Amino acid sequence: MPDSPLSAARPVADLSSALAVLRENGGRVSTSRRALLQVLFDATSPLSVEHLAAQAVPSLDVPSTYRTLERLEEVGLVRHVHLGHGPGLYELTHQTEREYAWCESCGKAASIEPDRLDAARSLIEQSIGYRPRFGHFPLVGLCADCLSAGRHGHHH
Ligand SMILES: [Zn+2]
Ligand SMILES: [Zn+2]
Repeated sequence: MPDSPLSAARPVADLSSALAVLRENGGRVSTSRRALLQVLFDATSPLSVEHLAAQAVPSLDVPSTYRTLERLEEVGLVRHVHLGHGPGLYELTHQTEREYAWCESCGKAASIEPDRLDAARSLIEQSIGYRPRFGHFPLVGLCADCLSAGRHGHHH
């Protein structure tokens, strides 16, 4: 599967609606799909594949967790974001799109409403002809705390 951040989001309010979306799209409601969706509904921030695999009841192995998340992403229930150097972190899709900023000094991530970035987005597009999006890869820079502390550089 290509890495496709642009598959249409199908945000839902609860587990039974998510299972209905799966069935509409010809997907089986397997134990692993149900278990992962339950963990994602309980989560308050994007989670790693390893974390999701361990939290699922029954617990799942990492390769099958990847495959299940890919399928859930294809039908628009799930999305992922890359914060820092690590692999993608997964969460449910939202009613309103979400973008992220990530501090390369302290590693802090912030969730941002996309309309707060629209003015900067237009300026960048006028200047270089690219319209930036920060939902799949975040805007990377320095947070306010690190700026005021005079920190800079690269977090590892
Ligand atoms: Zn990705
Ligand atoms: Zn910082």
